[in-house]
Amino acid sequence: MTLELTIGWLYPTLMSTYGDRGNVITIERRAQWRGYTVKVLPLDQNSTAEDIKSVDVIVGGGAQDRQQEIVMRDLQGAKADAMREKIENGTPGVFTCGSPQLLGHYYEPGLGQRIEGLGILDLVSIHPGENTKRCIGNLVIEVTASRLAKDLEEMTGSKAYLVGFENHGGRTKLGKVEALGKVVYGLGNNGEDGTEGAFYQNAIATYSHGPLLPKNPFVADWLIQTALRLKYQQPITLQPLDDSLAVQAREAMFKKLQVNPPKLSAVAKVSG
Ligand code: GLN
Repeated sequence: MTLELTIGWLYPTLMSTYGDRGNVITIERRAQWRGYTVKVLPLDQNSTAEDIKSVDVIVGGGAQDRQQEIVMRDLQGAKADAMREKIENGTPGVFTCGSPQLLGHYYEPGLGQRIEGLGILDLVSIHPGENTKRCIGNLVIEVTASRLAKDLEEMTGSKAYLVGFENHGGRTKLGKVEALGKVVYGLGNNGEDGTEGAFYQNAIATYSHGPLLPKNPFVADWLIQTALRLKYQQPITLQPLDDSLAVQAREAMFKKLQVNPPKLSAVAKVSG
């Protein structure tokens, strides 16, 4: 039986800043390289709640404030309920920058009205105003969300450090939701409390943009594995891939930023 994976891509034309489509491509290719059939389904103004319900993994990128507003006007009623149901039921996903802001309670832009979010993640985001510096630059975090940290450590054999790039004006404060990780380099959720992103059910929320999965391919494998296990209700073991180039790229970045994480092996173990 050929396994099938449908990637739901939230509003590709409105929410895909700073290379966020890299996350979609990484999941797609790494699933195809294992022989799975992959479909990428845009979830946008032309989609229905049924489309949202049909996907196995969700990718949401960043957006400028104006685009975020358009998306929130569309993501209402049955579509909002379908998103909530998917995330509550454990559909894995990676949500970047503007997307977690929308999954939280609200986002207050630098100019204009508060945009109400879906309230799935217990967090709020506020842009302190046009004259405040944006949070821009390389980002390194240590994953601290307990279940995810344990899974990633099992896959890679060492503590999970994620390399990324952030670019946001909004500052996020977490309520009861668990942080994705703690900031080792960069600013993260707000530049103050040392937290980065959030982790809820199997949804990964982060300020790290679309190089996140290419730079940390074991996270893409975790998403694929989690999606297939949920869909087929059986233990799925992914074939290992040669990630030596990604490992080298990570090491170059750690060296440049003078961060000293544990070494990863070039071939991640993805069974378990
Ligand atoms: N508009 C949001 C902010 O500035 C999100 C930006 C983004 O997704 N890159 O915080």
